[in-house]
Amino acid sequence: MIRVRFAPSPTGYLHVGGLRTALFNWYFAKKNNGKFILRIEDTDTERSKKEYEDMILEEMKWAGLDYDEGPDKVGEYGPYRQTERYEIYKKYILKLLEEKKAYYAVYDENQENIIYKSYEYPEKYKDKSITVNFKVPKNQKIKFTDMIKGELEFDSNIFDDFVILRSNGVPVYQFTVVIDDYLMKITHVIRGEDHISNTPKQIMLYNALGVKSPEFGHLSLILGEDKTPLSKRHGGTAVTYFRKEGYLPHALMNYLSVLGWNAENQIYNFKEKIEDFNINDVSPRSAVFDYKKLLWIDEEHLRNEEDEKIYQFFMNWCNYNDIEIKADEKLVIKTISISKSKVSTLKQLFEFIENYFRDDFEYEEIYIKKFVEKEWFKSLMQKSIEIIKKAEDFSIDGAGKTLQKIAEEKITGKKNTFQSIRGALLGKLVTPGLYETIAILGKEEVIKRLERALN
Ligand code: GLU
Repeated sequence: MIRVRFAPSPTGYLHVGGLRTALFNWYFAKKNNGKFILRIEDTDTERSKKEYEDMILEEMKWAGLDYDEGPDKVGEYGPYRQTERYEIYKKYILKLLEEKKAYYAVYDENQENIIYKSYEYPEKYKDKSITVNFKVPKNQKIKFTDMIKGELEFDSNIFDDFVILRSNGVPVYQFTVVIDDYLMKITHVIRGEDHISNTPKQIMLYNALGVKSPEFGHLSLILGEDKTPLSKRHGGTAVTYFRKEGYLPHALMNYLSVLGWNAENQIYNFKEKIEDFNINDVSPRSAVFDYKKLLWIDEEHLRNEEDEKIYQFFMNWCNYNDIEIKADEKLVIKTISISKSKVSTLKQLFEFIENYFRDDFEYEEIYIKKFVEKEWFKSLMQKSIEIIKKAEDFSIDGAGKTLQKIAEEKITGKKNTFQSIRGALLGKLVTPGLYETIAILGKEEVIKRLERALN
């Protein structure tokens, strides 16, 4: 049984690179009818925070990456949070000490130099700083075939002995990751290439424990346009950022799967690509994160999605951003229907349609300057109200005819007439179609809004 894991450290926001690692693990598990495990690596107790962990779990759900086992999804191999596994690690640390593959190291005052080493606990130094260090074997070739990078070989002599248990009793990542991958029966470790130099150390630990090491696959880093690792300098990098900006979760996942795997510009449901996924096709070269392309993919998904579905995503987005929409579902769906092809994200959608749901909006300055302040504006509004009051047909066609009638009064030019009414109805000059807007708002609301602009 294939078992893979995503093992984030809850020391900050989930980075899109991390989400991509999770996605490729998810694909690999699904493709091979295996299991996908989520493990929280929180042994860096100073930097780890529960709120980051909660955010990671929540964002995995948002992204649609379901896992079979995890801190909130109990399985056979838990607990799935490293700080709850100290007793387990202790057992293996003692085993390595017993077999003289690790030793206690006593440090001087500055914590720099080792002043004493022993396989037994150095009682006489118990007031000093004592760690357990792994004894790196000399003159060994550490070889492995990386599923993405190919054959790799390291000389063990380039590594110094390294700490596996800190003086405060907390084991380090390098060690816990090996114990957990072993006990959780992980068959393939797919992670970022920033871990590639850790892999030989971990293989030496597997060897020392006398257990088989998993297969490894290291994903190339995601870069910014200037070819340095993607960071805040390039734009938002946290999943939270893309969520706030109103990207559809499946659009972000679509883009992340395109990045470094599927070279063509394809718009697809990432969950339908499982059969096509092959870890050997993942590019060993770094991929450049293209914000414009992501925007384009999001736009395409918005256009292709059913209005009712977008409504759900839209309301979730509003909820996430503490925005309350005071309008019934039907009205919101209607506005989505006439707007979705004109925006690229849910945030833009919100900005485009928010004024349908409220009548206390401010008018854009340019609207006031170019229209409201013109000498003909008041008579145009009065005439419009008069004609609209008499109108009966508020279908899209009917609205068109009514507008035509208002324009024929020639209080100002046709374009000015339309823009003046548009601004009065929605406060802005770039809006969804004017006929549709009148049809959606209906007679009463249209009159109310024109009267408001008049005063
Ligand atoms: N906890 C590590 C990190 O967040 C990942 C370790 C691994 O995948 O082996 O970078």
